[in-house]
Amino acid sequence: MTQKRAFALAALLGFVAVCLGGFLLWQERQARDIPGVTYETRFIDPGPMLHLADVLSSDALEGRASGTPGNDAARGFIRKRFEDVGLLPFLPGGWEQPVTILPRPGLDNPGPGANLIGWVPGETPGTGPLIIVTAHYDHLGIRNGEIYNGADDNASGAAALTALAEYFVRQPPRHDILFVALDGEEVGFLGARALVRDPAVPIDRAALNINMDMVSRSDVGELYVTGTFHTPGLVPLVEQVAAKAPVTLRIGHDRPEDGVNDWTTQSDHALFHELGMPFLYLGVEDHPDYHKPTDDFSVIPLDFYVRAADTATSIVRAADANLPDIHALRRAPDETAQPEGHAE
Ligand SMILES: [Zn+2]
Repeated sequence: MTQKRAFALAALLGFVAVCLGGFLLWQERQARDIPGVTYETRFIDPGPMLHLADVLSSDALEGRASGTPGNDAARGFIRKRFEDVGLLPFLPGGWEQPVTILPRPGLDNPGPGANLIGWVPGETPGTGPLIIVTAHYDHLGIRNGEIYNGADDNASGAAALTALAEYFVRQPPRHDILFVALDGEEVGFLGARALVRDPAVPIDRAALNINMDMVSRSDVGELYVTGTFHTPGLVPLVEQVAAKAPVTLRIGHDRPEDGVNDWTTQSDHALFHELGMPFLYLGVEDHPDYHKPTDDFSVIPLDFYVRAADTATSIVRAADANLPDIHALRRAPDETAQPEGHAE
């Protein structure tokens, strides 16, 4: 009996030692040794971001379609990360803002959807202009028996959102910043609609929407910034960031003559644009895995993804430093049909 107990104790201690060793090794790897990443970040901590993007785009989450258990699980992982980095829940009721997910072919009884809204207070919390940073976390789910993991679209943006949040908790901004993980993008921007229509969200204080959707894939190191055509006053800010950015930051994809390559209304920022609010959308060119079951974490060039997230942080920093001027660029909603900025 005693011998057995001693053996059990030794086995238990051995197990604990192995777990502790594994944990410490993991921590070490997180911080210093990420295979495929040579870029040393200026702002974000890349380890937890890459881990979250990997988790969100794993088969276990079954493509995160709005109204499904996989989407619910994805929301849980993001909420945990929001809590861990020290973000504050913005709404009085907590992190979640309900989003009604409508029945659709293949999903007769969708579960409830939700946005997650966290914030970092600025120097005068609750007053003055604010920034709304968004990224959708839903994707296409399972179609014809195949899981659409949506690693680039948009596990990449959702995980980057948490990395930016972590940075701004550590380095508090001048102005309030809302970080919103949006549901329902793939089924008609339902989360963004719910966000801009909620009276509890001070949309009149919002000076700028920065939306990340597909920020991890580029063979040529290019990240697009879309939206300056509608708000030319933002060009100097983008050029200032581009001059020092660890990616090639390209302005474009926002002119009517771009036709189907005009991305003005192709992601959640469209809802902010409708309100006359300046937006900067960050995203990469479409790639062969776009909206395919092959949009997997394993094919993301991690070094580019980390560079893109650091660049996004730099854009939010620059916007925060110039926010009163940016707020003045906001138009009345009825003026949005025509872009501003043309000489009289
Ligand atoms: Zn997307």
